[in-house]
Amino acid sequence: MTAQGAQRQVFIRTYGCQMNVYDSDRMADLLLRLGYALAPSPEQADLVVLNTCHIREHASEKVYSELGRLRDIKVERRSTGGDLTIAVAGCVAQAEGGEIAKRQPAVDILVGPQAYHRLPQLLAEAERRAAIRKAGKRLPGAGVLDTEFPVESKFDHLPAPHGVRAGSAFLSIQEGCDKFCTFCVVPYTRGAEYSRPVAPVLAEARQLVAAGAIEITLLGQNVNAYHGEADDGSAWSLARLIRALAEIDGLARLRYTTSHPRDVGDDLIAVHGEVPVLMPYLHLPVQSGSDRILEAMNRRHGRDLFRRLADRLREVRPDMALSSDFIVGFPGERDADFDDTMRLIEEVCLASAFSFKYSRRPGTPGWAMADQVPENVKAARLAAMQALLGRQAHNFNLSKVGETVPVLYAEAGRRPGQIVGKTPWLQSVYAEGLGRMVGQIVETRLVEGHANSLAGEIALQPERAREAAA
Ligand code: SAM
Ligand code: SF4
Repeated sequence: MTAQGAQRQVFIRTYGCQMNVYDSDRMADLLLRLGYALAPSPEQADLVVLNTCHIREHASEKVYSELGRLRDIKVERRSTGGDLTIAVAGCVAQAEGGEIAKRQPAVDILVGPQAYHRLPQLLAEAERRAAIRKAGKRLPGAGVLDTEFPVESKFDHLPAPHGVRAGSAFLSIQEGCDKFCTFCVVPYTRGAEYSRPVAPVLAEARQLVAAGAIEITLLGQNVNAYHGEADDGSAWSLARLIRALAEIDGLARLRYTTSHPRDVGDDLIAVHGEVPVLMPYLHLPVQSGSDRILEAMNRRHGRDLFRRLADRLREVRPDMALSSDFIVGFPGERDADFDDTMRLIEEVCLASAFSFKYSRRPGTPGWAMADQVPENVKAARLAAMQALLGRQAHNFNLSKVGETVPVLYAEAGRRPGQIVGKTPWLQSVYAEGLGRMVGQIVETRLVEGHANSLAGEIALQPERAREAAA
């Protein structure tokens, strides 16, 4: 907690996906401009922001338990004349704002994922309310709430980004979703699909590269549905945007996530074969390998599309690594459907994947569906699937042993002298290296393949090694 007159401090905790990491960075940019410094823990902060995720029940529940802990800090502070401002941002705030205010009155600010550019006004209002409370007067209603989907885009109201960590940065280009998969809350919490115009995306990418980014990951809930407006009024596809971004001097790696199989067009497949800075890795969630379940999920594609896309991508880029998301135990899923999914995984062979038990989300069509699958069945299917996915990931790592590949080092490892980075295929590599290699791409020989990572040895030419050590 800050002494009177000292700089105020904010602690931001991020739950969920990379889009939330991006949003948290942008909130930090906004708050730094307001004069805040970043606090290392909630105990040292004047303001705590929880940037929340609503995708599965477990993710929401974690927020309520953290709020209980923050309430205790706030009560203790107030007993000594201090205070703590608590803000809940993101998708739980959007979906359950009223419920949070009821369950945890210590919360001062609730702000949805499309409205956080208004944080300065919300903080001013929260401060005004704190002053009224301190003066012993009654406060009208609960905390400050802003979960409207504003007409203006938050991107027009945010300061230039600072978010480059060790050479890598996220750039959000698309938000929201109109697909309404029957299990998913995103269309309700993030709103309608929206693509940022081309010019500010290119400008932000150039700023990030100027600030030290050599890798940019383009973000969107359905990033490959991107159709941003260019200055001449035409709509650019993701493929066209990638070609333009690849021209930026100093940008060595481009990635994008998350994609929907239905929006993988011919031009996007072609770009994978033609643009070397586009990394040979694609996260393409398929959710299920059963056509019957895919239809119930409203995915509007079948298992065959996924197989065909995998083949075509590997035709244009033979070293293409694929990853995916799977949900087991969607309502109505029988053993035969699950077997279809396992067969699809075996046929396509994945480098990595995320797999989840279906979580019943209020407000989605899946919530009300008959034939919900019992928890023990979901758990058994998930275990079998994760065993298969784990074997495939391990084999993929083993297949790279002996190769020398460019690794972008991102941070120091746990052991002294160890650094950790990513291959072009997004595998983690641990190597003995120099701290100054963090944020750089360094040729590395892969010497051991494990379940979730590889061991590497820095493979610089002797003169480059001397330079690096100097
Ligand atoms: N837009 C992406 C797509 O089309 O697949 C996915 C976005 S979602 C934020 C990330 C992943 O969470 C999904 O791919 C899905 O596997 C998982 N997910 C979403 N809703 C879920 C639910 N109700 N239960 C379990 N997993 C869920
Ligand atoms: Fe959710 Fe489906 Fe939209 Fe992906 S495509 S965000 S899973 S509704």
